[in-house]
Parts: sequence; C-alpha cells; structure tokens
Amino acid sequence: MNILIFGPNGSGKGTQGAIVQKKYGVPHIETGVIFRQNISKKTPLGEKAKAFIDRGELVPDDITIPMILDRLKEDDCKKGWLLDGFPRNLAQAEALWAALEKEKIKLDYVIEIDLDRDTAKKRIMGRRLCKTDNNHPNNIYIDAIKPSEKDGKMVCRVCGCEDMSVRADDQDTGAIDKRHDIYYDTKTGTLAAVNYYKQRTKVISVDGSIPVKAVTDAILAKLV
Ligand code: AMP
Repeated sequence: MNILIFGPNGSGKGTQGAIVQKKYGVPHIETGVIFRQNISKKTPLGEKAKAFIDRGELVPDDITIPMILDRLKEDDCKKGWLLDGFPRNLAQAEALWAALEKEKIKLDYVIEIDLDRDTAKKRIMGRRLCKTDNNHPNNIYIDAIKPSEKDGKMVCRVCGCEDMSVRADDQDTGAIDKRHDIYYDTKTGTLAAVNYYKQRTKVISVDGSIPVKAVTDAILAKLV
C-alpha cells in the first residue's frame, strides 16, 4: 500500500498516520523526522537543512525531493509506504507524481484531514501537557479531552495530577502562523499539492473537527 496523508499542524495527522501505518505495516516516512535525525547526527544533509528548519521555512526542494525519492527506493519500502509531511508544496507533488508514474508505482490512497485554520490553531495552543505521563491528552479547547478541575485548579483529566504545562512552541503564534501559511496556501503550498492530487486521483477527505476516534473511524471506513 502506498499512501499519502495530509493535514495541517493541529489536525491530529500524526495520530491518524500512526494508526494507518499500523493497519498496513508499512514504514511511516515523516520528512520532519528524517531531517531531525540528520541534524542530530550532524550529517551533511542535516547541516544544510538546519538553518531553514530553524527559521520555520521549508527546506529547498532540491534537497527534499531527492531525499524522499531515494528513501522510497529502500528495501523496507518494497511492501509500500505512508508518506507524512511530503509533499508539502506543489513542486514536490508534481515531482512525486512524475517519479511514481515513471516507475509505474500506484498511489493507493491519498488522505486529507480537513480542518479550518482557526480550529487548527486553537488545537495547538490549547494543548496541555501532563507531567506525569506525556500520553495523557488534555486540551482546553477540545471538550472530549478538556482538563478537569479540582479546587479551582486545572488538573490532568486522566490521572488528576496538578502538574500541567504547555510546550513553548505550541504558544509561539508566529511559528504556528508561518506553518499554516504554507499549509493553507492553495497557489503553491500544501493545499495546492492536495488539489493537484484531487485532479488526478481519488482523495479521501475526512472532517478533522470531530473527535479523534470519529476521525479514525471515518478514515478506516474508507480503507480496504
Ligand atoms: P515537521 O516535523 O513535519 O513539522 O517538519 C519540521 C520541519 O522540517 C518543517 O518546518 C520544515 O522546515 C521541514 N520540512 C518537513 N517536511 C518538509 C518538506 N516536505 N519540504 C520541505 N521542508 C520540510
């Protein structure tokens, strides 16, 4: 199975991507993760990509496109792949489409998690971290996972601990806006890439504003 998953930051794309990846047992290829691994290992690729990532910009296509096309040729991709974070713009979408056509590789599913920009931003900014367990989801803007209250204080909805914090980058509105500017750009950005695929193949679009479990069910219902 060869799958692409799209969704703005804050849409739960990572969570849904992990579920789809598990269903098919294909490698989950996340561009951001590959870059971060290269940066921490100080590889030449990492050195080149770092400045762009630090500025919240896309790493140039002449670095990113060959990196991903090469990754798809590795042995573990013979049974398929789930690409997450790529394509991020129209040029990447065109390059991937052309490369797959050339190799006669079928794109089985393109999944889009559809979420409006304001909600996506609130989702990010509303995230609260439980210091006891990182896997206790809390969000002040999502009713289903709203933190609880104890003696007028916000506590983790799962374990009740009072130690709740925020991730600094979740509160950086400049950084959030920059990423969303790229995602919601229908001319050359990520939505342009989604529309490019919509003109060529079937795209499964699911409403990302409903609870996480319902989004999962909506996606799984469309996958064979
Ligand atoms: P992510 O973890 O997906 O948010 O990616 C982290 C950073 O890696 C992004 O802000 C970009 O700077 C870079 N990046 C990830 N995917 C791409 C891509 N497809 N094209 C260019 N840069 C990317």
